Amino acid sequence: MKTIDLRSDTVTHPTPSMWEAMLKAQLGDDVYEEDPTVNALQEKAAAMMGKEAGLFVPSGTMGNLIAILTHCGRGDEAIMGTLAHTFLYEAGGISALGGVHPFTVPNQDDGTLKLEDIRSAIRGDDVHHPVTRLVVLENTQNRCGGVPISAEYTRQVAEIAHQKGVLLHLDGARIFNAAAALNTPVLDLAAPADSITFCLSKGLCAPVGSVLCGRSEFIHRARRIRKQLGGGMRQAGILAAAGLVALDENTERLSEDHRHARALAQGLAGISVLRLKNEVPPSNMVFVYIDEKVTLGDQEIQSRLKSKGVLVSIFGPRLLRLVTHYWIDDAAVENTLAAFREVLA
Ligand SMILES: *Cc1c(COP(=O)(O)O)cnc(C)c1O
Repeated sequence: MKTIDLRSDTVTHPTPSMWEAMLKAQLGDDVYEEDPTVNALQEKAAAMMGKEAGLFVPSGTMGNLIAILTHCGRGDEAIMGTLAHTFLYEAGGISALGGVHPFTVPNQDDGTLKLEDIRSAIRGDDVHHPVTRLVVLENTQNRCGGVPISAEYTRQVAEIAHQKGVLLHLDGARIFNAAAALNTPVLDLAAPADSITFCLSKGLCAPVGSVLCGRSEFIHRARRIRKQLGGGMRQAGILAAAGLVALDENTERLSEDHRHARALAQGLAGISVLRLKNEVPPSNMVFVYIDEKVTLGDQEIQSRLKSKGVLVSIFGPRLLRLVTHYWIDDAAVENTLAAFREVLA
């Protein structure tokens, strides 16, 4: 039985052309900035994001951490959503390692933060207050259901921040999904941000890595923080080679994953004890609530699905998350729906 792994798009393995590129990659020592494949990836990523420079990092978490520690000093404040990955899922790294103070404002259902909330969160010059340095937005917004955030909204947030001398960091872990979902060039989504992190290791299928992009002077400082955190890698070109293939081959196909998410949602909607968070999933994530009248617990449902070869995540009480990706095809969608029908019959 072939496992259908819908827990996340991070479970994607490299594609055949990635294996080939990794085997042939030209390598050097990237801490000396001498790995030609890493350098090529960083240049390509920066060009795609419309930024001056890029920095290859081991994970999206480290990319966000480096960005926030580069923008903010100890005691400085970064504004972010209550449902932001940087707030919920990065182990408090910005506080633990950088002494950065998060100021959270509520995410709306569409993934955005109210402009008014951002405006009033930015502190005035007062010795009682921390200094506001940064706003962090997330695109697509994972916890809100993989919702894409528009270029126009991002521009408005940047304008509010910049007027007060505050910078904007974009956690663009799935920025290419956002671009596909909105049918907007990724350049436009990234343009308002002073820095952006995106993941190669999710829907783009590379085994490891993210890229942080921004101005050259910012990336220069970020490189030292990457070293401090132990993220300076040596012959990292072996990983960057897969990243280059990810950018060359896998960004345009993401709408296929979104189509599979919509098909999954449509099928799940036909099961009476299930209710979707978004009837039409906006990108590659399906969030589904289980009715209270189902006597099986969440873990029990998860393990019964697993026994039928279907892996899903529990994302809250009576809430499951299913994420489509490169290795989920039409047959996998059908088999998943069949498993749900049997388990919840
Ligand atoms: C996955 C993810 C990250 C980074 O995760 P890593 O697993 O560390 O690569 C950051 N932000 C969002 C929104 C994510 O979904």
